[in-house]
Amino acid sequence: MEQKIRIAIDGPAAAGKSTIAKLVAGRLGYTYIDTGAMYRAMTYKALRAGIDLDKASEVEALLPGTEILLKPGPDGQTVILDGEDVSGVIRTAPVTNGVSAVSAHAGVRSYMVAEQRRMAREGGVVMDGRDIGTAVLPDAELKVFMTASVDERARRRHLENLARGFESDLGLLAEEIAVRDKKDSERAVSPLVRAEDATLLDTTDMTIAEAAEAIIRLAQGRAD
Ligand code: C5P
Repeated sequence: MEQKIRIAIDGPAAAGKSTIAKLVAGRLGYTYIDTGAMYRAMTYKALRAGIDLDKASEVEALLPGTEILLKPGPDGQTVILDGEDVSGVIRTAPVTNGVSAVSAHAGVRSYMVAEQRRMAREGGVVMDGRDIGTAVLPDAELKVFMTASVDERARRRHLENLARGFESDLGLLAEEIAVRDKKDSERAVSPLVRAEDATLLDTTDMTIAEAAEAIIRLAQGRAD
């Protein structure tokens, strides 16, 4: 493949975006950028500051001086917030359940989007999130909208939690995923929506390898 393209992968919570995006990036020698981790890090900072996550002005007051770095490492990506490794804590329930409130604020979004565009400037990236194809990289060479049924997404997240040694309740997970999808889809700024020119990939009945392969084939078509 000659040209190093930008691949945007969007879709609802727990559709397999990060696992598959990581695989695709590894195969193509591209950089994987997990934009959800940036909103999660900001949520963790706001929770720690004890502020009301629904108050835009309070959350946005924390933005100046905030530094969020995504560092590729052997066990995936390390997330550094103001010099501290927060890779583990940003996956815990309080952050997961608060992140949709924080990511709905316009000021938070414009801050993160500017950072994300800077990271993708050179091309050769696989970026996953909710608004990559619509707002962050509207001219990405390849856009994929990845979905799976709520039950299947809950089942996958449940297995992932158990493998990590976290407590997990399948029914509760399905509810939380549905609530997060609803909030992300109904927010005023850059809601979760499929870009018109995104390829729909329903992974409900696909293995991780099959989904990654499908994206790699599409990428090869775009980069020629
Ligand atoms: O992808 P992940 O589940 O880690 O994303 C966490 C949350 O961050 C999403 O539920 C959404 O509220 C927010 N997000 C977003 N825009 C992105 C990526 C994530 O609003 N590009």
